[in-house]
Amino acid sequence: MIPKAIRLLISELEKLPGVGPRSAERLALHLFWFGKENTQMLANSLLSLHSEVIICPQCGGLSEKTGCEICNDLTRRRDIICVVEKPLDILSIDKSGAFKGLYHVLGGRLSPVNGVGPEDLRLAELFARVEKESVKELLLALGMDVESDATVYFIAKHFQNSDVKISRLAQGIPVGASLDITDGLTLERAIENRLPVNGV
Ligand SMILES: [Zn+2]
Repeated sequence: MIPKAIRLLISELEKLPGVGPRSAERLALHLFWFGKENTQMLANSLLSLHSEVIICPQCGGLSEKTGCEICNDLTRRRDIICVVEKPLDILSIDKSGAFKGLYHVLGGRLSPVNGVGPEDLRLAELFARVEKESVKELLLALGMDVESDATVYFIAKHFQNSDVKISRLAQGIPVGASLDITDGLTLERAIENRLPVNGV
């Protein structure tokens, strides 16, 4: 019989994405042989996830509790905001080095079929930000599928009578691909050759 503490650990590990029962077992036993000091360090870093990392109330990205490094970076342009679906997308775009403005995470894309409406996304926050901070351009980095198109259309429509320039990533991002698997160079080109979507 496997000791209770290990069984508990296995059932927790199984909840992680990509970890099946077999690998959960292997990991749990590995952690036991990993040594007390190492497991302590792992446990501490797991706990600090929630004590030190927060969702930035402004951009919606992952941030230090002490303040968001991106929103507080005064070397960044503040008149252009790159709109993305999820916090991880910020990482991908920032790594490409082609964008030096601020970000806004929507938390998803519009999808009437799946019951995702405008009120389920951080759209009101985006519109308020644009107004308050006199933003001149929104770069919509949302991929190339139906749901992304619907989201782009909704945002462009909101700003149709304003001076805010709306652009989206140029072709080059594979259809249905998420930004985190798109390589840096493709992303850089897609940002540089971004296309205007005003006037819908
Ligand atoms: Zn932020």
